[in-house]
Amino acid sequence: MIHFDSDKQRTLFSAIAGQMIDHADELTALDQAIGDGDHGVNMKRGFEAVQAEMDTLVSKPFADALKALGMQLVLKIGGASGPLYGTLFMSIGKAAGESLSFSEFGAAMASANKAVMARGKSDVGAKTMLDVLVPVANAMQDGADPSEVSALAAASAEKTVAMQATRGRASFLGERSIGHMDPGARSAQLLIDTLCRFYSEHDA
Ligand code: ADP
Ligand code: MG
Repeated sequence: MIHFDSDKQRTLFSAIAGQMIDHADELTALDQAIGDGDHGVNMKRGFEAVQAEMDTLVSKPFADALKALGMQLVLKIGGASGPLYGTLFMSIGKAAGESLSFSEFGAAMASANKAVMARGKSDVGAKTMLDVLVPVANAMQDGADPSEVSALAAASAEKTVAMQATRGRASFLGERSIGHMDPGARSAQLLIDTLCRFYSEHDA
């Protein structure tokens, strides 16, 4: 169980932002292969805005902070991933209390995934971020520990290599989308990996 006071929020949000910004070039390279090459730039812009707003974000209760973080992503990220990651964070906020076990976090994420699916008219198997977020949230809910979930996220992102995209820009490539990891699946894995590390370091 972690109580998401202001300090814990700052630690988690800073770690996520740092991870996305550090991997911007890699995310962009993945998007160059099967999209328009802006996923890294998009995520970097969104999470730099999160860093700039950090004091305001973490002064709020956790649920409101997540909603405000999601709103920053919607406002600052162009493209498909802004509204989708924005919806993810805002919807976790709607489902989250102030204190969450790892499994409860998974339950909040599972309900948020449904909102992402509705927003993107998408589902698992379409070679998107959902191919990481959905199995991960289910495993968390079912009691998997952070190291198991981290490994599952990596394996799930890897599985998108063999998939053909049926949603998002990569779907325009048809069969030529096969053979490359989905950029959004990789950014989702980075997000989950950071959450897992945070829980292994701070869970009491
Ligand atoms: P854009 O596609 O507008 O250039 P980004 O490059 O930032 O936006 O993000 C692309 C990622 O967004 C994809 O790799 C995929 O994971 C995700 N994505 C795109 N469309 C959808 C959708 N309909 N549902 C879920 N995820 C999607
Ligand atoms: Mg793109």
